[in-house]
Amino acid sequence: MSHDGPLRAIRLLRIGAVPQALVADLAARVSVVTALPCRAGGAAGIEPVPLAARAQVDADRLLEALERLPRERGTVTAAVTAADMGSPIFTHHFGRARHGGHALVISLARMTPVFYGLPEDRDLMLRRASLELLHELGHVWGLGHCRDNGCIMRFVPSVEGIDNRGTTFCAACAASVPLPAALAPR
Ligand SMILES: [Zn+2]
Ligand SMILES: [Zn+2]
Repeated sequence: MSHDGPLRAIRLLRIGAVPQALVADLAARVSVVTALPCRAGGAAGIEPVPLAARAQVDADRLLEALERLPRERGTVTAAVTAADMGSPIFTHHFGRARHGGHALVISLARMTPVFYGLPEDRDLMLRRASLELLHELGHVWGLGHCRDNGCIMRFVPSVEGIDNRGTTFCAACAASVPLPAALAPR
């Protein structure tokens, strides 16, 4: 890896009004999906910046603030927000991360079926959130988007895309990043 050795753990923080019990459940799910230990931390202590003229917070500013937080060697700072995230050139972001960075952020706003007028489904929301976190972790590892629909690195504009794309890395993507052994394609 480009920065400080292999990734050993993920620290999951919350931004704004996300129940700590939900963060804990998400951390448990992320540990399974990423095959890396994910610890639920507390509040990130970051105040989201609203996007001008939109009922959204600025995903890029959030990510910048997360990148500045103190961090243990070999860890990534992940954060979850309930606020809808956008950026000047994108209508929304399910998640955001910088290639080779140390942080990522995901938004639950468009992962809950309630956003689409459907009944609440906490389990489905947690599934989507943990898979999106794995996608952003791929960016942290330096991966770009992939055309393989079976690959977690495929770009998806809608939540159905998260539900329908693969749940781990294709062989080509996997070969170019230091994946935990449990995630290597068989
Ligand atoms: Zn992406
Ligand atoms: Zn791929």
